[in-house]
Amino acid sequence: MCGIFAVVNDTSHHAARTTLEGLKKLEYRGYDSWGVAVVPTASQKSKVSAKGGSAYGRKSLKSKNQIVIKKKIGKIGEATVDDMPSGDIAIGHTRWATHGGVTDENAHPHMDCSGRFVVIHNGIVENYQELKQSLLKKKHTFHSETDTEVIAHLIEDRSKEMSVEQAVLMVFKELVGSNAIGVLDGHTGTIVACRNGSPLSIGVGKEQYFLASDVTAFLGHTQDVQFLEDGEAVVMTPSGVKLLDIASGKEKKLALTHLDWKVTDAQKGGYPHFTLKEIMEQVVTVPKTALVNRTEMETIGAMVKQSTRIVLIGCGTAAYCALASQYFFAQVGREAKSYGAYEYLPFAGFSDTKTIVFAISQSGETADTLIAARAAKKNGAYLVAVVNARVSTLERMADVVLPVGAGPEISVVSTKAFTSQLASMYLVTRMCAGKYEEAVNNVKTLGELLAGWQTKKLLGEVLDVAKLLMSQEDMYVIGKHMSYPAALEFALKIKESSYIHSEPFAAGELKHGVITLIQKGTPCFAIGASDETKLELLSSAAQLKARGGTIIGVAPYASSEFDIHIATPDAGPLTIIPNVIVGQLLGYYLGIGRGTDPDKPRNLAKSVTVK
Ligand code: GLU
Repeated sequence: MCGIFAVVNDTSHHAARTTLEGLKKLEYRGYDSWGVAVVPTASQKSKVSAKGGSAYGRKSLKSKNQIVIKKKIGKIGEATVDDMPSGDIAIGHTRWATHGGVTDENAHPHMDCSGRFVVIHNGIVENYQELKQSLLKKKHTFHSETDTEVIAHLIEDRSKEMSVEQAVLMVFKELVGSNAIGVLDGHTGTIVACRNGSPLSIGVGKEQYFLASDVTAFLGHTQDVQFLEDGEAVVMTPSGVKLLDIASGKEKKLALTHLDWKVTDAQKGGYPHFTLKEIMEQVVTVPKTALVNRTEMETIGAMVKQSTRIVLIGCGTAAYCALASQYFFAQVGREAKSYGAYEYLPFAGFSDTKTIVFAISQSGETADTLIAARAAKKNGAYLVAVVNARVSTLERMADVVLPVGAGPEISVVSTKAFTSQLASMYLVTRMCAGKYEEAVNNVKTLGELLAGWQTKKLLGEVLDVAKLLMSQEDMYVIGKHMSYPAALEFALKIKESSYIHSEPFAAGELKHGVITLIQKGTPCFAIGASDETKLELLSSAAQLKARGGTIIGVAPYASSEFDIHIATPDAGPLTIIPNVIVGQLLGYYLGIGRGTDPDKPRNLAKSVTVK
């Protein structure tokens, strides 16, 4: 996880501030701590050494250019770097801790013993213990408990015998695991960054250069991007950017992509939180799926016809999209099997050249999904990447890409990417059955239904339910068939946004054990669609009610079994979408009421690039 940002030749001459602004856009990737390192402009250096204060620096620095670091635990939202010196080159990081507690000392950047190099890192150095032991024998002093700090000391060590550029590449090759690093050399103001498994992009502006984990961090400065591939490094100096192959050290040609994303796409647009903005955007993003990707869906439809095995993988919300897609496939007479990608490896051996694998991931960088997809592909499976963010690792691995086009999703809690993936998978399954045109109309109709339903009235209704449930600590959510994945996602939204324990289960499972948990007043959500499951769902609701549960029906139909009813539009198999939207809104309002930050729930990160 974590966010990496760097700038070279900052035209404002306050590179620390530019870096902080970039990091704020990456905060969704990790928010345990943040840190910025700047190379002060010449006139500032004496001031810096005398100052100390909030700028955290090693007192014993003897380097030519004293790098100044400020790093702290906590959210970056209110952070300032006005007390940092001006400069044209800076590097920064937002951390999602994997090794070492959430402390100021463990915040990145990390410095070597000489003070010449600082390092920011996304990933896990799996062999860091072994590397650390060898460095300790060479008398290196460590100031943090992180795996990252070994990188700075290794570069210090290796650069005694070779150029800094060669030293960074050599050290990077010694690291085991999925990693991306950015290294600042305070002597020359050079930044060297390497990628293997964790995303990195380079922004090439007119006079200035950027490095970031995600392009949204520098979109306001430039839209010309070099996406780094695994095994590639970049050297950024005041005179330009050089792309390198890490294995050979040879220079490669830059191939810039011009992105036409608008900066406003990544801003809040008048809403108090990205979560609410993105929930409301579904009125547009869901029907948009009916207008895009037709050619890709035709290709996929043909491949599905030739395949004997259909596999669907994803993690978290994407795993629920995979499960829902399993039902979509069943509706058109094809058996498919969904897996949480983290549980797929024991079954990867069954994949072959007749297998089609749908790997679903908002970011396309989810480590567990990439590992599972790689394993299937190794056996010859045909890989479809169902992604939202563009130019990701998953996309590059895939035989065909289905970009669902929901636009930048900034809130850590996935909403619009999920429903666009769901609508896209619905369209794919109907394409396989020769019913694409009908499905397109259904998705467009759903768009109209959502527009008429996602109004202030709905927000008011959900807010009232949230107020009623605010002090509850346990809730249960049931659903059957297509509404079972809806129940899973509904409960997950409540857990993620409000930290309330909400447990989903298949309505049919109820009487096999879990009903013991229901007591007088326990909130129970019954998620339903106007399909073959209606009567059975209502029977299950009645069983819950008989044990004292308060039944909140989320369905297109009313029932006397419901104590409260939140009516959703009847969209056939696509009713799962409005039903889940109720869960998204409820989680959001419960979170607000309980004082959480729905955009950035504790312990989570948007793009889970560690396994
Ligand atoms: N493993 C490093 C740490 O715990 C980096 C984690 C990250 O990717 O943010 O500090």
